[in-house]
Amino acid sequence: MIYPVNETFLSWQGEGIHLGRKAFFIRLQGCPVRCTWCDSASTWHPNHVPKDIRKLSADALAAEAAAAQPEFVVITGGEPCIHDLNALIAALNKVKLPAHLETCGAYPVAAGFAWVTVSPKWNKPPIAEALAQANELKVIVEDAESIGKWLATLGGVWPCPTVWLHPEWSQRANPAVLRAITDAVKTFGAPLRAGWQMHKPYAADSLDTRSRPPAPLGGEASQGY
Ligand code: SF4
Repeated sequence: MIYPVNETFLSWQGEGIHLGRKAFFIRLQGCPVRCTWCDSASTWHPNHVPKDIRKLSADALAAEAAAAQPEFVVITGGEPCIHDLNALIAALNKVKLPAHLETCGAYPVAAGFAWVTVSPKWNKPPIAEALAQANELKVIVEDAESIGKWLATLGGVWPCPTVWLHPEWSQRANPAVLRAITDAVKTFGAPLRAGWQMHKPYAADSLDTRSRPPAPLGGEASQGY
């Protein structure tokens, strides 16, 4: 199995339950969901599709990850679950590295992950099978209504023991978004938790020269989308 790799880098997990832990990231290329604000800009504009996508085997990726000596490996994207991840999970198991997954949950999730984070997206909401495998949910809050809209879309009950509410990054200083998150946590408590993409203010990922420079965010007509 050969995987198209957008980037790999050693950093620390900037989100969720595993915040702050040493992690190796494998960002696979490609996602058909096309969220306008996706920070993998190649998903929403062809001008941002990298010309140097590496094609690596599961064993090569596992060896690169093992050399970095992380606590675990995060397989992200793009949307990693459009690829058959069984070989990559097996290769990481061979080098004794737990595999964590970051997915939108719209596609089936391979068995064998040590941790699954589902971050649902409006363009293609999660399937029940993926939600059942989720250890945590990460809800992207782009406006003051999105928390309630997601609860309704997911059937009126949060499907995970931990549900992070993250401001969509371009809205991270929007008082209405921050207030909506705060009000939701103060009103309902568990499973809701206020979240943040902590690696971004630290610029932690970009310290590894294998990482790509931060991409622009989408959603602007001037950028062609
Ligand atoms: S599902 Fe995720 S990777 Fe795909 S476009 Fe949306 S935010 Fe980007």
